[in-house]
Formats: sequence, C-alpha cells, structure tokens
Amino acid sequence: MNPARSALLWASRNEWLKTHVPRWSFVRRGVKRFMPGEQLEDALQAAKQLQEKGFFTIFTRLGENITNLEEAAAVRDHYLQVVDAIQEKQLRTEISLKLTQLGLDHAPEKATEFLITIARYAGERDIPVWIDMEDSSYVDVTLAVYRQARQVVNTVGICLQAYLYRTEQDLRELLTKPAAIRLVKGAYQEPPSVAFPRKRDVDANYLKLTRHLLEAKQADASHRLVFGTHDANIIRRTMEMATDLKLETTDYEFHMLYGIATDLQHHLRQRGQQVGVLISYGDAWYPWYMRRLAERPANVWFVLKHLLT
Ligand SMILES: Cc1cc2nc3c(=O)[nH]c(=O)nc-3n(C[C@H](O)[C@H](O)[C@H](O)COP(=O)(O)OP(=O)(O)OC[C@H]3O[C@@H](n4cnc5c(N)ncnc54)[C@H](O)[C@@H]3O)c2cc1C
Repeated sequence: MNPARSALLWASRNEWLKTHVPRWSFVRRGVKRFMPGEQLEDALQAAKQLQEKGFFTIFTRLGENITNLEEAAAVRDHYLQVVDAIQEKQLRTEISLKLTQLGLDHAPEKATEFLITIARYAGERDIPVWIDMEDSSYVDVTLAVYRQARQVVNTVGICLQAYLYRTEQDLRELLTKPAAIRLVKGAYQEPPSVAFPRKRDVDANYLKLTRHLLEAKQADASHRLVFGTHDANIIRRTMEMATDLKLETTDYEFHMLYGIATDLQHHLRQRGQQVGVLISYGDAWYPWYMRRLAERPANVWFVLKHLLT
C-alpha cells in the first residue's frame, strides 16, 4: 500500500490525533470542501440546492463505534427525525448509516432492531436506507443484519467493497434474492490476507463485480444497483457494459461524495445518468476525513494550503 495512504489510515484510528486535530482551524477549513456543515440543517440546505440541479442525495451523520447503547438509541432517534425532515422538505434523499453507530459492538441484536426501526419508518415514506460497510472484521455480521432487515423492509441496501477477496462470493449469494447493492472500492486499511493490496487489482475486481451486477440486473429487474465511485474510467466502462447488455440508464445509479469530482457528477447528469450525492454532516468527522485524505494523499496539500490562508 502507498505509504502516505497507510500513514493517513493509521492517523484515522489514532486516539490522540482524534481528540486534538479537529480543534485546529486550518483542518476545519479543509473539511469544508467535503461537507456543507456540521448540522443537519446544513445538509438539508445542500440537498435542496443539489435537487434543483437534478441530483438526489444520501445523508449520513458522521460517527462510528459509539461507547454505549444510550448513544446508539440517540442515533436511532436522530435518524427518525432526519426522515421527518426529508419528508417535510420534500427532498429526494436517502439515508446511509454505520451499524457500529447503532451499537453493533455492544449488542448486535439491538443494532439490528434499531436499524429495522429506522428502515421501516423510512421505508413507509419511500426513503431507502443503506448500510455502510466498515472494516473487514464487520463483514459477516453486517451481511447478516442486512439479510434480516430485508425480510421485513425491502428498501434496505448494503455496501460491498471490491478490495476484499470475499466480495465476489458475497455478491453472488446476495444476488440470489432481490437485492440493493452499492459497490465501492473500500476505504479501510486491510491486510493482504483479506484484500487486494494493489490498486490496479482492486480496480480490475471492481469491473469484474460490476459485470456480475449488471448481468444480474438483466436477469432480474428488481435488483437495485449503485456504483459508488468517482473513477472516471470505471464509470465509462460501466456505462459501456450496461449499453452492451441493453440496460437503460435508469437501471443503475452512480453515487458520489459531496465535493468530490463535481465536474464528473454534472457531466453524468447531463448525459441522463442517475447521480446521487452522499452528504456527510455531524461533528465526529475526524476518522472519516482522514479516510478521504487517504483516498487521495494529494488532498493533504490542499489542507496545508489552508495553513497559509
Ligand atoms: C456513495 C459512496 C459510499 C461509500 N460508502 C463506503 C462504505 O460504506 N464503506 C467503504 O469502505 N467505503 C465507502 N466509500 C468509499 C470508497 O470505498 C472509496 O474509498 C472512495 O469512493 C474512493 O474510491 P473511488 O472509487 O472514487 O476511486 P479512486 O481510484 O480512489 O479515485 C478515483 C478518482 O476520484 C477522485 N477522488 C477519489 N477520492 C477522492 C478524494 N477523497 N478527494 C479528491 N478526489 C478524490 C480522484 O480524481 C481519483 O483519481 C463510499 C464511496 C462513495 C462514493
């Protein structure tokens, strides 16, 4: 793995840095590039503006690995309020969340219950809920929670990571039933025993899995396919594969992160593709932000520039 990427991913987990870095104003200024603000209201406003330009949005409140179940219950309550706010403002906005925010480390059955409560409440209002995929130690339990939730709510989706060797098999198993899958490359530091260490192998696997997904869609229209990537080459190849398979632009979607590859987002919209923008908000942005920097270590220069401004 690229040493700068490793260092940034290490920093994302370091407790001292987690406490101190968010206080540095030049870092806070850098974060603004990737999130409209820390409050839900900031996300709602950004969603409205994006919707006017033809994008739909996905909200995620930053925070992972909470310390007790009361905090998890508060996260559940927060997302129920988010559903109300989305509905009230008539936004085309979905929700994406981490199971560790709902207490997965403390009581998996409670986290499942909380997820189902949110997904059901949101689903009744036509608002899909996505389950993020965290590091590889959580994959089995995350898949189990997704399967359990899908038995009661069919608007729940799951994220799968192309850097993991196991994902091809997971994907094939999930596609035996109507599924909602968001394919991403993967953002965590993983050992070579579980994940492709070289970027080009991750990219090749992403394309291989994309083909499986598109073929599955051709065979069963009820699947929902999302490609969560900013990789222009992969996006182009995905569109070519879809055209070869005689799929429509409405048969699959691209989701990207707020503030990243915005020209590409607009270009795809102009070509009639469906594009969702994932908006993050909340004050627990440090580990998430470090993962964004790790995806493109050149971003660190952007942050350092703020030291001088
Ligand atoms: C909607 C969505 C949901 C996600 N959910 C998860 C999840 O649940 N679990 C998980 O592990 N990961 C998740 N990710 C992150 C994902 O795994 C990747 O780390 C991230 O998307 C970068 O990979 P890429 O596919 O854009 O390709 P890359 O090859 O990393 O990037 C392609 C190009 O995109 C641009 N780019 C990418 N990232 C950045 C950045 N941070 N800053 C500036 N430019 C950038 C650059 O131009 C780069 O050359 C999600 C990503 C998206 C878009």
